[in-house]
Amino acid sequence: MNFENNLAFAQAQDQADVLKDFRHQFLFPNREGKDFIYLCGNSLGLQPKVANEVLQKQLSNWANLAVEGWFEGDKPWMYYHKELKDLMAPLVGAFPAEVCPMNTLTVNLHLLMVSFYQPKGKRFKIMMEGGAFPSDQYAIESQVRFHGFNPANAIIEVFPRSGEDTLRTEDILSKIDEHGEEIALILFGGINYYTGQWYDMEKITQAGHAVGAMVGWDLAHAAGNVPVKLHDWGVDFACWCSYKYQNSGPGGIAGIFVHEKHFQNQDLNRFAGWWGYQENKRFKMEKGFIPEAGADGWQVSCTQVIPMALYHASLEIFKEAGFLAPLRIKSINLTGYLEYIINEINKILNLQQFKIITPAKPEERGAQLSIIAAHKGKEIFDGLVAEHILGDWREPDVIRLSPIPLYNSFEDIYLTGQALLKVCKKVL
Ligand SMILES: *Cc1c(COP(=O)(O)O)cnc(C)c1O
Repeated sequence: MNFENNLAFAQAQDQADVLKDFRHQFLFPNREGKDFIYLCGNSLGLQPKVANEVLQKQLSNWANLAVEGWFEGDKPWMYYHKELKDLMAPLVGAFPAEVCPMNTLTVNLHLLMVSFYQPKGKRFKIMMEGGAFPSDQYAIESQVRFHGFNPANAIIEVFPRSGEDTLRTEDILSKIDEHGEEIALILFGGINYYTGQWYDMEKITQAGHAVGAMVGWDLAHAAGNVPVKLHDWGVDFACWCSYKYQNSGPGGIAGIFVHEKHFQNQDLNRFAGWWGYQENKRFKMEKGFIPEAGADGWQVSCTQVIPMALYHASLEIFKEAGFLAPLRIKSINLTGYLEYIINEINKILNLQQFKIITPAKPEERGAQLSIIAAHKGKEIFDGLVAEHILGDWREPDVIRLSPIPLYNSFEDIYLTGQALLKVCKKVL
């Protein structure tokens, strides 16, 4: 697409956008009577307007049915998660039986590592991306310690080459080969939270399997953002939070994926609880854990109905949009437009003020651009907020901006550029 830095161009793109009306289904933060341009959906997605209604619905189910709500009403709570499974599956390229809403992300990372990190003999290491989200680092370190190893020699982190900001696939693959039989588990973020780099999940999964390792993905920044094919790629397990790109609300219920090839695998450890027990016999309350088939067998506690209702409502919006395929087309164009606008600002300022560290190729990124500000980054970020533009700031010098195809427009991006230019002229 040939982009132009003017309002008429941006508005013409919006006119032609088949998804343009979806933004009216969301609530935008507002200050002094003016809505923000929201470019922070990578951190917390916006509230769908329908959220209030679905919450009220569940509150009145609770009020009117009380304990009978588990088995009565139009959508009994006992089976409610199944409706989510059908809607979650297409977002991550899975069969409904392979996914389940449960818990929160880091908790699920732990539960899945209990099953899929099984160090034996010299195969005891976990490989991960250097600079992973801290919660993942802490979870992996503590799992390694739990098995009696020292993180310093049981965790292999892959870092970019010196002078580079992101990882080269060839370097990841050669690191996998290099460590081969030492690797028990490869666990990467699908998209790195800091750089916005989308790793070549298929190739890394294949390479991991070729050396006999399990391969799992934390899709916090990928699920609902980029198309992934967990089943076809043979990924062993994955998990994600739903409050970033999937708009389920702060601390919303998370999701897991377990590939069907593991459904009958008796060697996998589990930290079990009654909700993972065979569904049709759960209330017999018998001794001796027998897991429900599929991903549901990893559930521990009774299902979180209220957060599920919010996640369900937001998944319905994805369904209405045709799931990811149309959103992804718009996303590539919107993010490309933002990239173009940032580069135009550098030209107008006649400065290398902004450096985008997120890869330029669409197949190596999702909606997010991570932008290093050479001078006065925090002042510029604060200036943007004062102009009603909300992205997020990561120390020491990165501004992350994420145009979300469900609720951002080309005009948002154009206006962000104008505001950025205004702020730069003021503070630089
Ligand atoms: C956002 C994010 C988390 C957050 O974990 P919670 O358990 O939901 O607080 C963890 N890992 C990654 C990679 C993330 O991006």
